[in-house]
Amino acid sequence: MNHGLLPRQQQEFRALLLARRAALADQRSAHLDGRSRVEHARELLLQDGDDATQRDADREVDLARTDRDAVELAEIDQALARIDAGQYGLCADCGEAIALARLRSAPQALRCVDCESRRERGQPRPASL
Ligand SMILES: [Zn+2]
Repeated sequence: MNHGLLPRQQQEFRALLLARRAALADQRSAHLDGRSRVEHARELLLQDGDDATQRDADREVDLARTDRDAVELAEIDQALARIDAGQYGLCADCGEAIALARLRSAPQALRCVDCESRRERGQPRPASL
């Protein structure tokens, strides 16, 4: 039986995910200082400075970081939903168990290493599955 994780392990990863999520949420609110992203962007636009190019670059980096955090938060929420559904620890693509070491370093991982690297190379799943 291609089983997922033991209940004890699911609890362990749920705790890891919730801690990571709380840390990210803290980071976001500290970073944005409690303001909405739109207000934050507007403020950056209005800042005076004599190096407009550098300011634009800073703003890009700033918003990109915020976007990346948002993506990770979404992944964490998805992983938590998979724990509830009893699917956590199984690859979303091939259904094989994801290596525990991988989950420990990236508890929000939804795919096994093979599927993730295949995805990063932009190749479709083999049709023979
Ligand atoms: Zn897989």
